[in-house]
Amino acid sequence: MDRAEDREPLVEIDGLRKLFDQSQGIIDTVLGREPQPVRAVDGVSLDIHKGDIVGIAGESGCGKTTLGKMLVKLHEPTEGAIRFDGNDITEMTREEEREFRKRVQMIFQDPFESLNPRMTVYDTIAEPLKINDMVGDYDARRDRVKQVLEDVGLGPAEVYLDAFPDELSGGERQRIAIARALVVDPDFIVCDEPVSMLDVSIRAGVLNLMKELQDEYDLTYLFISHDLSLIRYMCDRAGIMYLGNMVEQGPTDDIIDDPKHPYTEALFDAVPDVELGEERRRANATGEVPSPRNPPSGCRYHPRCAHIIPPDGWDGTQEAFRRAYQFKLKVRRGDLSAESAESADIADAEALVEHGLTLDIPEEYRSETEIESGGSKVDIARIDLPPAARETLVDAAGAVLDGDTEGALATLDEAITTPCESRRPEPQPAGTREVACHLYDEPGFEELDSSTAGIAPAAAED
Ligand code: SF4
Repeated sequence: MDRAEDREPLVEIDGLRKLFDQSQGIIDTVLGREPQPVRAVDGVSLDIHKGDIVGIAGESGCGKTTLGKMLVKLHEPTEGAIRFDGNDITEMTREEEREFRKRVQMIFQDPFESLNPRMTVYDTIAEPLKINDMVGDYDARRDRVKQVLEDVGLGPAEVYLDAFPDELSGGERQRIAIARALVVDPDFIVCDEPVSMLDVSIRAGVLNLMKELQDEYDLTYLFISHDLSLIRYMCDRAGIMYLGNMVEQGPTDDIIDDPKHPYTEALFDAVPDVELGEERRRANATGEVPSPRNPPSGCRYHPRCAHIIPPDGWDGTQEAFRRAYQFKLKVRRGDLSAESAESADIADAEALVEHGLTLDIPEEYRSETEIESGGSKVDIARIDLPPAARETLVDAAGAVLDGDTEGALATLDEAITTPCESRRPEPQPAGTREVACHLYDEPGFEELDSSTAGIAPAAAED
């Protein structure tokens, strides 16, 4: 196969942002706060080349559907540029926009909602032809509709022309939605979770059809899906999104077999049925995805990252730093407080440090003490924590027990710091792909190396 970068880009996305709900709500006004918009897409750049099938993967709420909708002009970007075939789609004349709407189509997730229940199959598929003033008379239009019905595997076409959506199965409805997108002979189709609402038994048939249609109609696709096995099956290239950012992009097989970004690794490990490369480690990410209304500073993934980078001069292990950093986050979130210590029967600072250094991670990464205590404490003496950091934690724990959370945080903020919290990583070349992670800031540093990045199981503590 020829290389994507040798072909012309059909779609060029540059620094794209979409913020929703930018107005100041009542609570913001009362608290005298700046409005906190939802940062659905926050600085995404990506090229899609002619003939590519590109997949965008990520958990629900990562911004992938918003990105897809901006590409078909269902949402206007807040900032950044989208060029389609060299033209900025935010600055098109009416005529250019008409042409654009023929060349770019979208297939939605739910074939039960995307079709008008009062329109026949013929009217549904013929409508884009009429709107775009294509294929003049009725006979020619009917022939075109019949042909596209046959192309999506619904033949003989006469059987379907006068049917209504509620007379059809889910698979047939999605084929009608595909036919409606194809009838104007587009160049680029955005497919948003196109088979997720279909019965598992018919998904492969619809996906294979879409592959065949790519050749027949000379299409470029963008697939948006949380289903990594679909991305692997369909897409030559993939982009992984987390909280509005593109954290990794490149050839699909390379990304799945050898993920570079810590989030990509965690995402794939959370999916049991995707066919992954050999010798995979299990993710040991902590916590939940934060709100896109108030995303973390620096690297959006840093509160959960197993590979978070210690500051210069840290002379303990990365694992020890990760635990110390999580201690700080627990104090900041209010999870470690005088009240929580009292209810856990913790009376002294050392015991609170032992408690606060635990991680909510899979058992295989936990230390023996952590496992034996049901995740309530670690053996601090056996963590490679630099003496100064240990002292800081004990001081901070003492302040927490005295009810002085602010004082505890000031102490922790001075000593337990990371570039991952203060600087946002820019996408960097890393082998065959681009990765937005400070681990790749240094040229030549291209691997998630367990010796330097601290993936080593926490069991090393015991
Ligand atoms: S920048 Fe830091 S926190 Fe973010 S993914 Fe990379 S190592 Fe993890």
